[in-house]
Amino acid sequence: MTTDPRLVRYPADDAAAYRAAGLWGTATIANELTRVAAAHPDRDAVVALDGRVTFGELDTRTDLLAAGLLDLGLRPGDPVLFQLTNRLDAVVAWYGVLKAGLVPVCTLAAHRGHEIGEISRRVGAVAHLVEAGTRGFDLVGFALDQQRDHPTLRQVLVVGDDDRGVPVTSLGAGTDPAAARVAVEKVQAAIDPDDVAVFQLSGGTTGVPKVIPRLHAEYWYNAAEYARSWGWDSTTRVAHLIPIIHNAGIVCAVHAPHSVGAALVLGTADLDESLPLMAREGATHVLLGHGHFRAADHPGFAAAAAALTQVVLSGAKVPPALFDAIEARGIWSGQLFGMGEGLFLTTRPGAAREARATTVGTPLSPHDEIRILVPGSEDEVPDGEVGELACRGPYTLRGYFDAPDHNARAFTSDGFYRTGDLAAVRSIGGDRCVSVEGRIKDLINRGGEKINAEEVELLLLRHPRVAAAAVVAMPDPRLGERTCAYVVVRGEPLDLPEVQAHFAALDVAKFKWPERIEHLDEIPRTLVGKTDKKRLQAAITATLTEENP
Ligand code: AMP
Repeated sequence: MTTDPRLVRYPADDAAAYRAAGLWGTATIANELTRVAAAHPDRDAVVALDGRVTFGELDTRTDLLAAGLLDLGLRPGDPVLFQLTNRLDAVVAWYGVLKAGLVPVCTLAAHRGHEIGEISRRVGAVAHLVEAGTRGFDLVGFALDQQRDHPTLRQVLVVGDDDRGVPVTSLGAGTDPAAARVAVEKVQAAIDPDDVAVFQLSGGTTGVPKVIPRLHAEYWYNAAEYARSWGWDSTTRVAHLIPIIHNAGIVCAVHAPHSVGAALVLGTADLDESLPLMAREGATHVLLGHGHFRAADHPGFAAAAAALTQVVLSGAKVPPALFDAIEARGIWSGQLFGMGEGLFLTTRPGAAREARATTVGTPLSPHDEIRILVPGSEDEVPDGEVGELACRGPYTLRGYFDAPDHNARAFTSDGFYRTGDLAAVRSIGGDRCVSVEGRIKDLINRGGEKINAEEVELLLLRHPRVAAAAVVAMPDPRLGERTCAYVVVRGEPLDLPEVQAHFAALDVAKFKWPERIEHLDEIPRTLVGKTDKKRLQAAITATLTEENP
């Protein structure tokens, strides 16, 4: 096992108990894929808009890709930044990178210099994998820029056609498959199942994104238990429309179906192309995030839903009318609550309608422990009352990577992760179900992408005319929430284009740019002197209601 002081390990007793209980295996993620591929070589592993592979093909192609990566001089443990959209080669590259013993870093295709610079330095990224030909932005050129003056980044890898980087999918093309297999086996044999497999990014902490280390055994267990919770087998066909290189994408749509030999039907956010794909491929399961809560109103939904047996709603509180509408179409639906840090809750098949319609269900693992705490304390509230959801268990992190100060605040004294979400426990049909009731962490949930309010405020304050700033979520019918910035200025008022130009100049990902600016003479404060965000949020909500009655 590697010893890295930046990594907080599970206590040895807990790790031993999880393994003894049969939750954690002893294989790496790459070896889990090879085992499943041997059992289901001819079944579809991935069906995407731009191509398809069986498990047998995926296993062979990713061996070659891994051999090619090793030939480039990349070494096991080297972090690789991923900036890819939902396409077949994103999944091929995922497993190829893992097979070479490299560590994928789940940055988003939408991230820019502000995010990538910070994250790549934090993890010591060695390679940057980007997609060629993305609309409106040259990711390859961006990756070449990022490499300049960077202490560790030395390789630009490209999915698609662009000769400015190393074309990933043709890597290892000339290698003998048997030799590639030997190279992969050698690398994998040296990896401990409790070593870091993947770096995810946190959606819900202060300042710049925190890095979440996910380890081989616990991460695969998370996915396998997710597949079990929905009762999947190798005939299941899981559709996914939201970003795949993200915790929900990797757990729910890549590792989970693959843990049982099931297919991933990989679409994009565009329903016009994804619903026909689901119809053609007979998708049986789909996860709908907030941006797709209205998918059932799309004219293509009926055909896409012909083989669907499970629709899972996630990412934000589910309106009762939405649940009713899906039920009225004769489709079973349930809910998922999950986070990059670990904990997942689902409403199992067989769960009471009330549980599926009004709660996010129960934790995946019998070894998950959850507590609802009086915020800011370690005292539990009684069942039925709202408090901060805290959790500990066999796939929830015990500390962010290289963040000792933050970890001291983010965990209780006995290692429960404070989620920043408000929740209550309700007894339904004998189950202790959790309902999500809001959050105390200061972020905006924009269609599933989390925007840290403090990060945006600090960026606003770098504008010479901004004297004070407070950023809040404003309701949005499509995305759930968008960003509204309240500012106090010196001199002339600022308009939205000026603010956007400021964020562009700072090279900040576009989804974080404020989408509305409101001016104030001063920022309102609570009795204890904190920014009164509740008041600002109520004010912008009222304004929007007035504007769009
Ligand atoms: P991420 O790590 O980006 O997947 O974000 C996790 C966060 O998304 C959680 O801590 C919640 O704040 C939010 N979230 C996820 N699922 C739900 C849900 N079903 N209902 C409400 N909020 C959710």
